[in-house]
Amino acid sequence: MALVNEHFLKLPGNYFFSDIAKKINAYKVTHPKNKLLRIGIGDVTRPMPKACTQAMIQAAEELSRSETFRGYGPEQGYDFLIEAIIKNEYSVKGISFSSSEIFISEGAKSDTGGIVDILRHDNNLGVTDPTYPVYIDSNVMWGRAGILEKETGKWSNVTYIPCTESNNFIPDIPKQRIDILYLCYPNNPTGVSLTKAELKKWVDYALKNDTLILFDAAYERFITRPEVPHSIYEIRGAKKCAIEFRSYSKTAGFTGVRCGYTVIPKELFATTLSGEKISLNQLWLRRQSTKFNGTSYISQRGAAAIYTPDGIKEVNENIAYYMKNALFMKNKIQEIGLNVWGGIDSPYLWVKTPNGESSWKFFERMLYEANVIVTPGIGFGPGGEGFVRMAAFCSMEESEAALERIARSI
Ligand code: PLP
Repeated sequence: MALVNEHFLKLPGNYFFSDIAKKINAYKVTHPKNKLLRIGIGDVTRPMPKACTQAMIQAAEELSRSETFRGYGPEQGYDFLIEAIIKNEYSVKGISFSSSEIFISEGAKSDTGGIVDILRHDNNLGVTDPTYPVYIDSNVMWGRAGILEKETGKWSNVTYIPCTESNNFIPDIPKQRIDILYLCYPNNPTGVSLTKAELKKWVDYALKNDTLILFDAAYERFITRPEVPHSIYEIRGAKKCAIEFRSYSKTAGFTGVRCGYTVIPKELFATTLSGEKISLNQLWLRRQSTKFNGTSYISQRGAAAIYTPDGIKEVNENIAYYMKNALFMKNKIQEIGLNVWGGIDSPYLWVKTPNGESSWKFFERMLYEANVIVTPGIGFGPGGEGFVRMAAFCSMEESEAALERIARSI
């Protein structure tokens, strides 16, 4: 009989978000008439820009004609999209990339999860705590996270870098060396961002310690403050120590269509055990051509339309809507008397539960008493206990109604 990869068995039985869905379904079955308001979920609700859907319709039509049909595309993605990314995302900031340094993907989850394929099993890991769960789970599957310590909820081979109220959720540079460090800014779940000066400290740490930074910039489009960098490559030296992941999911409503990209500079190297320097760009290309057959032509055409004048206008409108909602929510949460972080450069709000209530308890109380769905912070790691995540991805009407209900239940 075939043997399973037993590392998978170390993962918690359910993905955290499936647990939430189960609890919500249980409530719905027993209270079918009550309308639930969702202000915790990380999925967008506004429709995709028309510029993108029109481009996808046109792409689909091309596929229906033999003269314009396309089969497998280039492994790294089509030049029309790669060139638009280089020009609109990086050249405008004075950062130069060649097309072979950009890898079009089906979104940031598959690439932040898959990147560990090219890294040895015995690297040690660092994550900010709380964190997006994929970073640890994808390493557990390789046996790289070590053992889950029941009392602390921490994996033995992972350095948890605390993000707490006392440091305003801005992590301090660790004292010890880390081989692979995940950073996500603007952050999911805390909604906090790093200024250029703060991010520079991490790049300097990585260069000094030969650390590889896996920088998740899935929420860069939500940044409003000029001192917050959109890309880690705005920091000098980052090309030598960082991979950047980007996504169109939240930017332009691609959560269902799927498209994003990963940047791996040619200057970025890691070594074999015997000390031979290996280009991570080359290794990722090899991995992608083994396990991945490209992002659909239709998705890539849709994504390229984000960079047209109509696309830019529509994306800006959607982002402005979410960020207006985030600010409104933040003010309301403060009026209710709860402590809240984030919501300035990010659609996420990190809210402290009242009276030390656990994050699952608060989730359940809000579900049953206020009929509002928030996300329990504990799902993002031990550092998330005592907090819940709220998100501005709902409509303004929904967030207004939801926060009124919460105010009555506090
Ligand atoms: N990275 C972070 C921090 C996220 O919050 C998410 C989605 O919620 C992703 C990556 C995955 O995004 P995508 O839809 O591009 O796979």
